[in-house]
Amino acid sequence: MRYPDSVAKSAEYLRLALPLMTKQRSALHPHSYAVWYEFVSGRNPRLAEALAEQTRDGLGLTEAQTATLYQHHVAQPGLNAQEAQRVSDSLSRVLDNMASSAAHAGDQTARFDQSLLLWSSQLLDAAQDEQAELLQALMAGTREMRAAMAQLQQRLDANQAEIAALRHEVSQARSEALVDALTGLGNRRAFEQQLAQCLSHAHAETAAPCLVLGDIDFFKKVNDSYGHSFGDQVLRAVADSLKSAAPQPHLVTRVGGEEFALLLPASNLLEAQQLAEQLRSKIAASRIRRGAGPTAAPLERVTLSLGVTQLARGESANDFFERADRALYASKRSGRNCVTVLAAKAA
Ligand code: GH3
Ligand code: MG
Ligand code: MG
Repeated sequence: MRYPDSVAKSAEYLRLALPLMTKQRSALHPHSYAVWYEFVSGRNPRLAEALAEQTRDGLGLTEAQTATLYQHHVAQPGLNAQEAQRVSDSLSRVLDNMASSAAHAGDQTARFDQSLLLWSSQLLDAAQDEQAELLQALMAGTREMRAAMAQLQQRLDANQAEIAALRHEVSQARSEALVDALTGLGNRRAFEQQLAQCLSHAHAETAAPCLVLGDIDFFKKVNDSYGHSFGDQVLRAVADSLKSAAPQPHLVTRVGGEEFALLLPASNLLEAQQLAEQLRSKIAASRIRRGAGPTAAPLERVTLSLGVTQLARGESANDFFERADRALYASKRSGRNCVTVLAAKAA
């Protein structure tokens, strides 16, 4: 889910977004709302920067500005509608080409077949001096046929290459749609797919999926003090730490602005808690340098609050995620830079 906000939170964003939207010059369609929703929720700093830049003149967003902001900062990566149309058109063209090449080859083969019948009946009846001439015609016909087949093969090869290129493009777009461009981790969509897959395979009696959610503490302050690009550097550093501390089969994804999920497909609460604690202390001990060389600013300390839970038998993905989220917020309330474990209530 791209927008995991509660009903109350989303209503608050609606109240904040409405007065801003009514000032703009573009129509109030869903793309406009998505832009303003992302803005007021503070989850999309790049969009906020671009929006501030574009409304500096005090005039509201135009239709074109809204469309660009939506396309660049809100729409999911991967094939957009225009690109998907292009791939689909190319595919139709390749298929048409193949069908017409096959039909052409079919006609040519049928003609050659008729000629062969004719030549063979003429050969049987022909006098000896005519036979040489007929054989020459037969050989010429065969050469023509061979050339036609070679041409067909060439066309098929070209079409096949084009299909392979299109297939590559589609599969790349599909995987890009699951990757967070900033950190290279799986994104929210990837997390949801992994979670669904994990739940559908969760049958074991002793080991069940565990979920660790982590949220960087006071991250807004990092951005406010040092700018978004240093904030981005911190996000990448945290992502790298998580990735290296939790190798396969654990699945690390970035599920929100400064929120990360770690899914342990078959585990137990104690193991998940220990891993969360390792991650917490590793991040807290690391130092992120601002700038390079002798003028490098002091190293920054970043901490993570974490929540841990385990899937209960027959539980939905939503309930599982919400409990991990409650555990995470319990960590925030108890002072941050800590791990809270919340077990499912016994049935
Ligand atoms: P808490 O300890 O309660 O989690 O406080 P916080 O400041 O971390 O949380 P808050 O939700 O108030 O702020 C999160 C900030 O994360 C706001 C947003 O600007 C920033 N953020 C979200 N995504 C990105 C990003 O991709 N890059 C950068 N630089 N900042 C981001
Ligand atoms: Mg935070
Ligand atoms: Mg957060």
